[in-house]
Amino acid sequence: MTTEKVDVLLVGGGAMSATLGTLLNRLDPSLKITLVERLDHVAHESTDGWNNAGTGHAGYCELNYTPQTADGDVEIDRALSINANFEISLQLWSYLVRQGGLPEPENFINTTPHMSFVWGEDNVAFLRRRHEKLSAHHLFKEMEYSEDPAVLNEWMPLVMEGRDPDEKVAATRIPHGTDVDFGSLARNMVKSLQESDNFNLLLSHEVNDFDHAKDGSWHVRVKDRTSGKSKTIQADFVFLGAGGGALPLLQESGIDEADGYGGFPVSGMWLVCKDPAIVARHSAKVYGKAAIGAPPMSVPHLDTRIINGEPALLFGPFAGFTMKFLKSGSKLDLLKSVSVSNLMPMVDVGFNNMDLTKYLISEVRQSHKERVSTLRDYFPDCKADDWTLARAGQRVQIIKKDGSGRGKLEFGTELVAAKDGSLAALLGASPGASVAVQAMIEVLERCFPEKMAAGWNQRLKEMIPSYGESLKTDAALLERVRSDVLDTLKIGE
Ligand SMILES: Cc1cc2nc3c(=O)[nH]c(=O)nc-3n(C[C@H](O)[C@H](O)[C@H](O)COP(=O)(O)OP(=O)(O)OC[C@H]3O[C@@H](n4cnc5c(N)ncnc54)[C@H](O)[C@@H]3O)c2cc1C
Repeated sequence: MTTEKVDVLLVGGGAMSATLGTLLNRLDPSLKITLVERLDHVAHESTDGWNNAGTGHAGYCELNYTPQTADGDVEIDRALSINANFEISLQLWSYLVRQGGLPEPENFINTTPHMSFVWGEDNVAFLRRRHEKLSAHHLFKEMEYSEDPAVLNEWMPLVMEGRDPDEKVAATRIPHGTDVDFGSLARNMVKSLQESDNFNLLLSHEVNDFDHAKDGSWHVRVKDRTSGKSKTIQADFVFLGAGGGALPLLQESGIDEADGYGGFPVSGMWLVCKDPAIVARHSAKVYGKAAIGAPPMSVPHLDTRIINGEPALLFGPFAGFTMKFLKSGSKLDLLKSVSVSNLMPMVDVGFNNMDLTKYLISEVRQSHKERVSTLRDYFPDCKADDWTLARAGQRVQIIKKDGSGRGKLEFGTELVAAKDGSLAALLGASPGASVAVQAMIEVLERCFPEKMAAGWNQRLKEMIPSYGESLKTDAALLERVRSDVLDTLKIGE
């Protein structure tokens, strides 16, 4: 068996590894980096355009990021953080466009106003309060609000036509919202990395075993899925950017920090319409409120999408029950992930989330007619024949131990890193690819602290001007940064 030696091994070719590889290559072009991807293309799992919703998550329209408190108020902290983190992604993408590391922005990002839409007295009161609080903050100051059906009709004609004129409705709008083709973005990042002599891409290769050597490096077994042959790659640093596949790999690594983690896979489906006459009448991402009892990842939305240059409308997601951790994974994934250390947390979550499991199973069993009937809440005049069903990607929600050692289910993302900084894994899927840059900066800060202090932090600031400062508290900084990124990425024109 042959052994190759690299500085950095990136496992998985999605948005996360593409972003980390890009950052590392720009911080130190002499680093030898290998990216291993089990499929024959990069970004064909969750990062592919059709496998996610492509929302540039900035907290503008997603009502689950601003929960309502028991006294009827609205918490906005999470939306502020997500917004500031998305601005960090926009800064890196702008830098790369200017440097020729990404193509013209319309190849991966397009202006799509972000709107929230609700009906009924209580929901209208919630949205009004949400708007009051968010628009008072500089990050959200452009947010518009209306209860006037004529205004809403202009913003979202498909949503308003055929609706009961006596129904109380309200909406908010941010004109500079975005639709992002994360698949195109990641593929272009990897394409640019391939221009470097120090970057190596191994497609159709799968990582399946690890050995932590005495010198601190990792000996990683990689199998060529075409020839069946295996080889070992020795790496000083390993990043598990394997999406749903990150949890089993983290368990395989045997690091203490992996103890107790489990995964709860959730599948998704979209209704898709490609009829140009209908697509031309909707230019927005319209997010509503999740049905009572539904998990946060199934907030319904009617979206304009541009994937590989092709416009379409997409509605969903309809969540579903699955045993697979990857769309192209195995039905044994969930079972194989159960270990002594996570058995109890997984059993806890299983027992405490029966309602969620029942909800997911009922979603899978829905007929086309039932799904179209949900779509009618957002597009009353839609015709069932104009819409087809498409499979989205998988999400693996994190199961971990709480303070008392019991299992709990989390809906965010989490970086798990070995204490010596030699290996890190990203678990979970929300808010996802939109905040990939901030997530990968966290990898750099936790795993390369000395290099950061020795100059990488200054280099990072050239790429991301707000790095080290707070966009949440510094309104003048936000003003400068935002006008620059909107201009470079041609957003809001
Ligand atoms: C239905 C849905 C809707 C979403 N909507 C949005 C949205 O609107 N906005 C947003 O920002 N995010 C969204 N997300 C989340 C976003 O898609 C993910 O957070 C992001 O794509 C994850 O990127 P990744 O690189 O971690 O994983 P992936 O893109 O899944 O890439 C992981 C790669 O690792 C490979 N791999 C796995 N195991 C191995 C192995 N052993 N060896 C080698 N390679 C391996 C896989 O083949 C895959 O290519 C959504 C996700 C889903 C499922």
